[in-house]
Amino acid sequence: MNLQPLSGVRTCVQALTDPDPAAPGLADEDAVSAAYSAHGPELYRFVLRGLGDSGAAQDVVQETFLRAWRAADRFDPQLASLRVWLFAIARNAMLDHARAAKVRPWQTNLVDPPTVEQSGPAVDDVSDSLVRSWVVEEAMRRLSPEHRAALVETHLRERPYAEVAADLGIPLGTLRSRVFYGLKSPSSGDGRDGSDTVTGPDASEHRQLRELLGAHALGALPEGASAALKAHLDGCATCRAELAEIAPLAQELRFIHPDALALQPSPPADLGERIRAGIAAERALVEARARRERSQHRARRVMGAAAAVAVLGLALGLGTALGRSTAPAVVARPGPTASAPALPIEQVAVRAVDAAVSTQQAQIIAHTWGVEARFTGTGFRVGQVYRAAFRSADGRLLPAGEFLGTGAKELKCNMQSALLRPDTTGFVVTDEAGAQVLMADL
Ligand SMILES: [Zn+2]
Repeated sequence: MNLQPLSGVRTCVQALTDPDPAAPGLADEDAVSAAYSAHGPELYRFVLRGLGDSGAAQDVVQETFLRAWRAADRFDPQLASLRVWLFAIARNAMLDHARAAKVRPWQTNLVDPPTVEQSGPAVDDVSDSLVRSWVVEEAMRRLSPEHRAALVETHLRERPYAEVAADLGIPLGTLRSRVFYGLKSPSSGDGRDGSDTVTGPDASEHRQLRELLGAHALGALPEGASAALKAHLDGCATCRAELAEIAPLAQELRFIHPDALALQPSPPADLGERIRAGIAAERALVEARARRERSQHRARRVMGAAAAVAVLGLALGLGTALGRSTAPAVVARPGPTASAPALPIEQVAVRAVDAAVSTQQAQIIAHTWGVEARFTGTGFRVGQVYRAAFRSADGRLLPAGEFLGTGAKELKCNMQSALLRPDTTGFVVTDEAGAQVLMADL
């Protein structure tokens, strides 16, 4: 499919590339909400136009804002407006969806371009024409109702000009004039008007014939008028220039379905709120991961400095927040501790499930704030993250911390949880793959 360049709709493309007056960016949920308010409905219409399914369009728009939020630091308002950037992301998200769902974007009850269906192009090729036709549709939406009706009734609905003129109660010449300006106005961003640029003896012929250019470009001029216009075109550079100007849009109109223009579908009222909630949830996850990485980094520094020294139970990530927030830091008490009550310590038998690992001196300590497992061991693979957990009476596993393996060097571990000793029925250590390495029944 060889379409001409989109010069015919350049004002629309310009509208797409104009910088936003106050490019808000997407730094946080408020900024995303603002961006959604400004561009969400239009994006939704765009994706709905491509996929023809409201549920899928909502998913893709949500995905669009999530991707945009993830990549917010790469958004440069100097390079493109937020709107252009969002449309580029939406287009890709829509293509991904179409590939995953194995549907072609054209499979919609709104669009049925036979040339595209027959040639069966790849999704990417189709998406280019999809974007183009959508751009043309939006340009058509911006026309005055009179100009739009003239194009829709004569060209898109293929009705005879005389019939449409009679319906509208206007002379045939006025209808042709509206067709011409309807084609011309989306492309005349420079305000140029060929109506009075021709002077001299040909001026009246020019004024008479110029407004036939629209019907001519759409192939809808009767033979006689067509011949007269062609003769005029040979000698009139102004008309040739105007014809060249409106021809691309006349071409693009082949792909517009009149019903698509009549629809102004809106996204469901709660889509913006769902997008906001989705981003808030992902942000919480990202922040938890960052906290976790920071403490793992700390743990590695500790291990690097003193590999053979004990590792404290490191409460990492969300899962261990409970143990972390309630367990007091274990601090070596300076000076005499004669008055400190003895802790209830149990010696326990720990079974090494992983043959490479061996343990000695495993103890369980019942604190007032929770339970602690202390053990020494060797054979934990170097650099591997191990996770400890206590099993509660009702079978849940409560995270007790993580540690890094140090190979043959002996590890001393203190793993803690807010679970109280009477409620604790077991202790488990798993490796990164989730396989059990150590376990004890309590
Ligand atoms: Zn002329």
